[in-house]
Amino acid sequence: MIPLKKFVPRKSSLVLSCLSVGLLVAACGKSSSTSSQVQDFSGPQLYGNGLADGTVALTFDDGPGPRTAELSRYLKAQGIRATFFIQGSSAARYPDALEQLAADGHLLANHSYTHPHMTSSADPVTEVRRTDDLIKKYVSDGHFLFRAPYGDWNARVAQILNSAGLTKYVGSVFWDIGGDRVTRGDGSLSSAADWACWSYQDSVEQCLEGYMRETRELGKGIVLMHDIHSSTVDMVKLMVPQLKKEGFKFARADEAPSIVAALARRSDSSKDGMISLEQLSCPVGFVATRVGQDGAALCLSETEAQGPFTQAMQDACMEKGGGDACKNSRWSRGLAVWLHGKGRCPIGATFDADLAACVEGNNVFGPFSKEQVKHCKASLADTSSPVCESNRWGKGFLAQVN
Ligand SMILES: [Zn+2]
Repeated sequence: MIPLKKFVPRKSSLVLSCLSVGLLVAACGKSSSTSSQVQDFSGPQLYGNGLADGTVALTFDDGPGPRTAELSRYLKAQGIRATFFIQGSSAARYPDALEQLAADGHLLANHSYTHPHMTSSADPVTEVRRTDDLIKKYVSDGHFLFRAPYGDWNARVAQILNSAGLTKYVGSVFWDIGGDRVTRGDGSLSSAADWACWSYQDSVEQCLEGYMRETRELGKGIVLMHDIHSSTVDMVKLMVPQLKKEGFKFARADEAPSIVAALARRSDSSKDGMISLEQLSCPVGFVATRVGQDGAALCLSETEAQGPFTQAMQDACMEKGGGDACKNSRWSRGLAVWLHGKGRCPIGATFDADLAACVEGNNVFGPFSKEQVKHCKASLADTSSPVCESNRWGKGFLAQVN
């Protein structure tokens, strides 16, 4: 089921506010730009319209399925590198397929974990993150692409994901060909969508003709198919020779100019979803350091930690009126996700997904990584140390974390 939701441009208003959280002078870094650029996850979806004429990018969603490894080998034998938007829950059933896809030169991309409607999902961040955990080791060059299930996407979801530190991804990647099954007067198809073909019990040849007609008409584009269907694999084996015969060339989705540009903008400003150490301006006495499994960029001193910081948060700070708005803020994004996963905020505070932090009235709390907890506990041992108090680290909160 692929409803074609058209993107309605609308100016997203940043809801992030730099609320005072106490005594710490926080680092909000120097932003290289105060303008709000489209980067990372963007409101408008990405298409293949910049591809050279006669070039198609084959993309496969919802898998892996029972024949994905076979399809992977077939495409490699044909000299074609394709893009597979992996559904995490499917990958759990065919763990070997991911390795095969990577070995054959295909791009593994993210299609959520449970295939929800992202605009109404209760937890879009976890949807992306769980599948990221499965595919990230196979993604080289940092080419992280996301495609929203059903193409269901808006600027609000993009902002939630960016704020949660998932800025290493670009998307959502839409499609140009394969979105609709349309019949002509004579009953043949002028365009096709594989899943719809199979539910209408079209033959592989009929469905292929729909795809070919749409491809000839547009002359290029990102092609949508679903490798969980056996008939789709059969169709690809007819489609590839036909496309070649008609002179078409093949590209991976990350070679489409719109996506190349999005990836370039992203890598200008962030690395692994986090702001680069060079961009992180720490207070005197703090050193910019990467910590933890995520390699989050933090400002660390002997006893205190601040951050981690993402580009999106920094931009938000700048938009709120420059450095002063950020002075008293302690942004702890990745840690919020970690804490949120445990369902824990300080007593009286609730988790705010947009801020990716625990909020109580005008106060924003942490959240805190295990490293930060360790630092704080160490300083608590020294009863004269005010460190944890001033950082909004209550003993009760630490007890909850532990
Ligand atoms: Zn899908």
